[in-house]
Amino acid sequence: NRRIVLASRPKGPPTADNFRLEETEVPEPKDGEILLRTLYLSLDPYMRGRMNDAPSYAPPVNIDDVMVGGTVARVEGSNNPKFAVGDLVQSMSGWQDYDVSDGTGLARLDKEMPQPSLALGVMGMPGFTAYVGLLDIGEPKPGETVVVSAASGAVGSVVGQIAKLKGCRVVGVAGGADKCRYVIDELGFDACIDRREPDLNENLAAACPDGIDVYFENVGGAVFDAVLPLLNVHARVPVCGRIASYNATSLPDGPDRTPALVGLLLVRRIKMQGFIIFDHYETRYRDFVRDMSGWLADGKIMYREDLVEGLENAPEAFMGLLEGRNFGKLVIRTATD
Ligand code: NDP
Repeated sequence: NRRIVLASRPKGPPTADNFRLEETEVPEPKDGEILLRTLYLSLDPYMRGRMNDAPSYAPPVNIDDVMVGGTVARVEGSNNPKFAVGDLVQSMSGWQDYDVSDGTGLARLDKEMPQPSLALGVMGMPGFTAYVGLLDIGEPKPGETVVVSAASGAVGSVVGQIAKLKGCRVVGVAGGADKCRYVIDELGFDACIDRREPDLNENLAAACPDGIDVYFENVGGAVFDAVLPLLNVHARVPVCGRIASYNATSLPDGPDRTPALVGLLLVRRIKMQGFIIFDHYETRYRDFVRDMSGWLADGKIMYREDLVEGLENAPEAFMGLLEGRNFGKLVIRTATD
């Protein structure tokens, strides 16, 4: 059993030294427990926060503990009548080959599912995040302009496509020409601005001649600065993530711009609301599964996975995620299904 533990806490961007690959015995399931073999491990930006020893909405990973993570796993041994060998489940087994569970919190997946890893992406937490953040907080209306950052990624790609289905004009912001081309040609956005090009502010303004009604915030930093002056009266800003600052160790230089931001929120009557997706499963998950299953079956939502082979490559892939080296939903394949 291979597992990757948190060896030390990063200061700034994580490095290989912050992780340690260990070999341990495959655990034995006790009475009422099952043995899970991880097939796919989801790598997500929130994991950077769990590496810090700082107060947040969830406790940090302890030093020497297995890194947290959502997984798709196969039942390989069962002392629990509710699960049979061969069942596929969605679990939080973390960065390891094997895990034991008493079944609490596991979601069963259809064994015949053609691509089980989608349960970690478009049909799972990131897709659900896009759905709730855009529809319930963004409240997009036909004809409005929706801007989304990290537009080719797991969350952003779904945000933009749902906004198109709702009749909006959709502008993405993404890192690099390849990602922007994909966002327009494959995902059907109306425009996409390369955040790595100079003149970000001018380019975004030119792509949003009627201003911005909904900004789905995934990154913060320079992209947020470019969006801010373009927000319309009564704009909505679902604050989903701020990945540009996850590795930051201090506040940015320069004068305190909080009063200017709050002033703008006031005069333009802007609604800015953060959300954490775990709060919404009880009320909205069923709606999401119904709608997303339909959209996927009808070919209305496209998705792209960045599939990396081998658990041992998870640290490197995760470091890349925080720099935009992934292209699509980042998933590690830990075993063949
Ligand atoms: P993505 O698949 O979008 O991958 C992350 C992307 O972020 C990168 O590909 C890159 O895109 C962009 N990025 C990385 N570093 C920077 C940087 N320094 N500045 C600007 N952009 C950067 O990840 P997800 O879709 O899984 O997550 C997107 C956001 O949603 C994250 O902020 C995440 O924390 C948040 N999230 C929040 C949830 C909640 O409950 N609130 C739940 C799930 C996700 P590019 O190269 O195109 O710039």
